[in-house]
Amino acid sequence: MKLHTKILLGLVCGAAVGVTTNLVTGAGPGTQRLVSLLTEPIGKIWLSSLIMVVIPLIVSTLSLGVAGLGSLRRLGRIGLITIVSFLGLTALSTALGLLLMNVIRPGHGLDPAVKTQLMETYKGQTEGAMGLSGNALNIDLLVRIVPRNPVQAAASGDMLAVIFFSLMIGVALTLIPTEKATPMISFLDSLGHITVAIIGLVMKVAPIGVFCLIFSVTARFGFALLVNLLQYVLTVVAGLAIFQFVGYPVILTLVSCWNALDFFRRIRIVMITAFSTSSSNATLPTTMRTSEESLGIPREIGGFVLPLGATMNMNGTALFEGATVLFLAQVFGVHLTLSAQLVVVVMSVLTAIGTAGIPGGSIPLLMMVLGMVGVPMEGIAIILGVDRLLDMCRTTLNVTGDLVTATIVARFEGITPRPALVDPE
Ligand code: ASP
Repeated sequence: MKLHTKILLGLVCGAAVGVTTNLVTGAGPGTQRLVSLLTEPIGKIWLSSLIMVVIPLIVSTLSLGVAGLGSLRRLGRIGLITIVSFLGLTALSTALGLLLMNVIRPGHGLDPAVKTQLMETYKGQTEGAMGLSGNALNIDLLVRIVPRNPVQAAASGDMLAVIFFSLMIGVALTLIPTEKATPMISFLDSLGHITVAIIGLVMKVAPIGVFCLIFSVTARFGFALLVNLLQYVLTVVAGLAIFQFVGYPVILTLVSCWNALDFFRRIRIVMITAFSTSSSNATLPTTMRTSEESLGIPREIGGFVLPLGATMNMNGTALFEGATVLFLAQVFGVHLTLSAQLVVVVMSVLTAIGTAGIPGGSIPLLMMVLGMVGVPMEGIAIILGVDRLLDMCRTTLNVTGDLVTATIVARFEGITPRPALVDPE
């Protein structure tokens, strides 16, 4: 059986067993214990083993990618196309989220009793996130992109700083004489291969990791909550689905000259991994491998676009943020004028760039946007219970958007790869 089929099986079985357990036991203490002592730790260990290789992977692929581009001029051109594509896709997806919320208006129908109950239930978690949101997006974020200490930046998972340092190594490699650059290039190349080998091992047990992650989410999930928030959840998921299955295909066809069905077929393992991990970072190793082996995108392009994308390009997150701000504004009776909604679009795009590619990474930043447009930040409590489900869906979009951008860049570079269909396993 192919790896992606096994992972899909893990996903479906995890969801089926989890939902059944939830319905039978009502997510009682026994289920809570099973999840917190067995399935959640196993899922977390698997997730950590993927995230463990992200820093060495970014350092090796990004610096080699930049060095492989050969000149600052080419780097500038590719950098520009990449950033324009990231910003364009993110702005479009946010606009779609806002449009749907304006048309469907699920916030107006929410029962005030449900609202009060949810805010009470998720008060603790909200306060935790509130602490993080204070310094989530400020000028310091920009300053920190240039690390004083790259090792410390890597240790604290400061991705933008790691990216910056890796870019600088790549640029420097193109500036020094070949005989001086060669040892470092071989070292980075070897490091890249080592990370790929580790990922190969970790992905072998992906079906078990995915089963445990999905079981933990569904066994504990408040399905009663879902009923109350169904309109909101369906609106966000519809927005994500439209962008994924209509928006991207249009762009793929018109800009990248890719057949969308063929594209989705080739990247299905990436979509499944993103959906089950809810983490762009944890998916990055699979994204990179798929880009090269299944889409045939040259290593230097994928090596540049994808690590940047995993941190900066979050189309699904921005759609979710825009839609949620509007939903909560409706719930709290805050009227957002067209210009306020424009602020929401801009802020969602900016905060999506600053969002960490981990489960729930966008919540602190989302709270900040809420505060900016005058919607009570504590309102986030209303959606926290269904966030994991939405996170799974939006992360799928986030990583698909990175690969779409990689095809756009490849196209602008005159490369239209059509390798034989290979499953990366
Ligand atoms: N989980 C998302 C990601 O890793 C970030 C978020 O929207 O919370 O891409």
